[in-house]
Amino acid sequence: MANIETDYLIVGSGASGLAFADTLLQETDAHITIVDRHAKPGGHWNDAYPFVALHQPSAFYGVNSLDLGSNRKDTIGVNQGLYELASGAEVTGYYDKVMQQKLLPSGRVSYHPMCNYLGFAEGVGRFESILSGAQTQVTVRKRLVDAVYFGPKIPSTHTPKFSVAQGVKLVTPNTLAQLWQSKDLRPKRYCILGAGKTAMDVGIWLLNCGAPPESITWVMPRDSWLVNRLCTQPGNEFFNESIGGQAAQMHCLATATSANDLFLRLEAADQMLRIYPEHTPSMFHFATMSKGEVAVLRRITNVVRQGRVQSIAPDAMVMDGGRVPMEPGILYIDCTASGVEPRPMQPIFQPGKIVLQLVRAPLPSFSCAMIAYVEAHYGDDTQKNTLCGNVPFPENITGYVHTMAANMMNQMQWSQDKTLRDWMRASRLDGFGKVMASADRNDTEKMAILDKLRSQSIAAMANVPKLLAKLA
Ligand SMILES: Cc1cc2nc3c(=O)[nH]c(=O)nc-3n(C[C@H](O)[C@H](O)[C@H](O)COP(=O)(O)OP(=O)(O)OC[C@H]3O[C@@H](n4cnc5c(N)ncnc54)[C@H](O)[C@@H]3O)c2cc1C
Repeated sequence: MANIETDYLIVGSGASGLAFADTLLQETDAHITIVDRHAKPGGHWNDAYPFVALHQPSAFYGVNSLDLGSNRKDTIGVNQGLYELASGAEVTGYYDKVMQQKLLPSGRVSYHPMCNYLGFAEGVGRFESILSGAQTQVTVRKRLVDAVYFGPKIPSTHTPKFSVAQGVKLVTPNTLAQLWQSKDLRPKRYCILGAGKTAMDVGIWLLNCGAPPESITWVMPRDSWLVNRLCTQPGNEFFNESIGGQAAQMHCLATATSANDLFLRLEAADQMLRIYPEHTPSMFHFATMSKGEVAVLRRITNVVRQGRVQSIAPDAMVMDGGRVPMEPGILYIDCTASGVEPRPMQPIFQPGKIVLQLVRAPLPSFSCAMIAYVEAHYGDDTQKNTLCGNVPFPENITGYVHTMAANMMNQMQWSQDKTLRDWMRASRLDGFGKVMASADRNDTEKMAILDKLRSQSIAAMANVPKLLAKLA
């Protein structure tokens, strides 16, 4: 068995592991070993459907030391006028570049793709090459970094929770773009199973590729609120929408009387969107959309709201709400993978170990870079965990209130620490920090927005505990 030594052993080279590694490399002289069972860095993006893209601007996704994209705005399509969204291919190309042009040339990173991590005991980790079976033992001088815990479930690698009768055609979104190759699988009707961001991507893709809206059935266990992408734009020219949007969100949190009321206020303030105005959503996973995308999806009118699918027979779906007759030969598209799996939160800094989780939702890249910065510069684990409080990812509209409470608590801690504040302002992953810092002090309109953000944040901090008490 080979033996190596390292300061940090990172398990997982997805968005989380690489954002952490990149910042740790910048901020320390540590040696890092990265192990992953995938052949390439980028984690789940390597297994995604071909028409996947970021739902937030590329400008603040990835790692701190390397820009993603060229900061251009889309001039055509459903994202017209808004900052570019990297495609899946761009994201995997980007992470390859991070590894080949940033991490490995530092001489302080050793990367082991196609290797299964086997475990860790008494300061020693072990992994095994998938191709040769050879095992390597890693003596870890500082910490094991679990960059797997927050990983998402995606259609191409998960197992559906419903059963399917023989002869029923069920595919993942990955198969759709290959339909041209198969005469047997060219359907006339489609049924999208699931109502998360992947399902929305599939709906838009089918319509854009020529499927008539009436050929699509959409199984929607729950309607979802969506973040209006206009409010996530990083450029100064969007100051009113982004920073003004933050102030509006704080005002909604300061005045809401229930979770439902909060989302209705956020919708009225143009912060949240929904696809079907006549239905009140209960789900919220930070899926982010433009109004253009929502308009496309509204063309799908055959929506089945009968809960989840339990099984699919050749002529019907058996659902929580009963049996729904279906045309034989319809192509079912499985979009039921849960995205972010609900997992119990645990302290981020533990003896000998770091478990990467969110410290600002919904931004995993920013969160993991921040955790690396805190690991590099702060004292004991109690202090580090105080600065990096866990932020739960919301399951539903109630969860959003908990998420915002934890987000605000962290933001308050960070704002009191000048070093951390300065690092955040300079970080490309922060999203709005630079926009706020660069606002001209003589611009009275922008200063009024910043004042409103400050005053409404204080008011929100006061109201959120009341809201949480009601929700409990
Ligand atoms: C379709 C889609 C779009 C998204 N869009 C956005 C977006 O626009 N903005 C945003 O902020 N977030 C977005 N996200 C969320 C997102 O991808 C995050 O980046 C998330 O944190 C995933 O990164 P990860 O590194 O935590 O997990 P993963 O990508 O799952 O990486 C974990 C890695 O660990 C490896 N691994 C696991 N177990 C082992 C083992 N035992 N041995 C060896 N290796 C192992 C896996 O091979 C994998 O490469 C999106 C998610 C999805 C699914």
